[in-house]
Amino acid sequence: MKVVTIVGARPQFVKAAAVSRAFAAVGVNEVIVHTGQHFDHNMSQVFFDEMEIPVPKYNLDVHGLGHGAMTGRMLEGIEAVLLTEKPDAVLVYGDTNSTLAGALAAKKLLIPVAHVEAGLRSFNMAMPEEVNRILTDRISNWLFCPTDNAIANLKREGFDGFGIEVVKSGDVMQDAAIFYSERSPMRSDIVKRLRIGGGFILSTIHRQENTDTKQNIEGIVSALNQLHQEQRVIVPLHPRTKQLISKLDVKPTFEIIDPVGYFDMVELLKHCSVVLTDSGGVQKEAFFFQKPCVTMRNETEWVELVENGFNVLSGADTRSIVELTRRMLVANINFDVDLYGGGNASERIARVFS
Ligand code: UDP
Repeated sequence: MKVVTIVGARPQFVKAAAVSRAFAAVGVNEVIVHTGQHFDHNMSQVFFDEMEIPVPKYNLDVHGLGHGAMTGRMLEGIEAVLLTEKPDAVLVYGDTNSTLAGALAAKKLLIPVAHVEAGLRSFNMAMPEEVNRILTDRISNWLFCPTDNAIANLKREGFDGFGIEVVKSGDVMQDAAIFYSERSPMRSDIVKRLRIGGGFILSTIHRQENTDTKQNIEGIVSALNQLHQEQRVIVPLHPRTKQLISKLDVKPTFEIIDPVGYFDMVELLKHCSVVLTDSGGVQKEAFFFQKPCVTMRNETEWVELVENGFNVLSGADTRSIVELTRRMLVANINFDVDLYGGGNASERIARVFS
């Protein structure tokens, strides 16, 4: 089968790294389209280089626009590609504007759509990601769900009656974590570079609800400042957050570094003592690398992490972040549970298209 894959944002490169390898192994003819949503070298190209993702045949170079203009231009660009390539299916990942644009462009041309990481819900319709994932799920033909909770969400929304193929594939990010973590000690020198000796707190911040609300971002910065006095806090900072943080009244005193490549990120995850994040992917990766996680949001799509005590929700309140982090640092957690399928989700997905 010929499959056009749409990617555009950092988490999609990580997911595509796993699935594209599985596609190649079973002989799927894959054409990759990069929408251009993330374009900085360390938010995009580094992942293609390090993770050996096939070079995109098309780059639509759409970025730096509001949600409407960005999604609209992507829709137009992807439609033109699909008319040229005439694939048997279009594959999209996750919940970004690139995801929705890819699914919609394909659906309007009557090309079947496959959604990887389907069925996730935060139940917060103010999140652009929630809108993107609900709409994408509804117009997809194959829904590859990472968890039982994702399947249950779809059932609740009546997907049983839609004639759509719902598959519990497991999580492709776990496939990536397993594959690349075997190689990262040879490919990353970040532990040496940052002189990491003892434990440290690893944090990432980029979710719109945190970056676009002054009270939230200041609450988070204050918490990280406070924690940094107790244990080193290292933050590979998303460009959007970096721009914003320089204008705040509260000045960060913790260690800010540029976003890192995946090998560096894996080594940071392996060596840290706790993860503080508002990222979807990083919450799961904390679990893959057996690290407790404090999620600086009021809800999460990855509810099984919270239900099993691997993750706690702090919101953006300074006191709550500090207290929960202290608690997670001394928690005795047994990570010996399989929540995400064990590492062969990509193969399961690829088999459908071979
Ligand atoms: N990541 C990375 N370098 C960084 C920060 C994140 O390689 O400096 C990786 C992270 O390990 C995960 C992915 O980027 O695989 C998550 O992307 P992000 O947090 O941007 O998006 P989300 O998962 O929230 O959609």
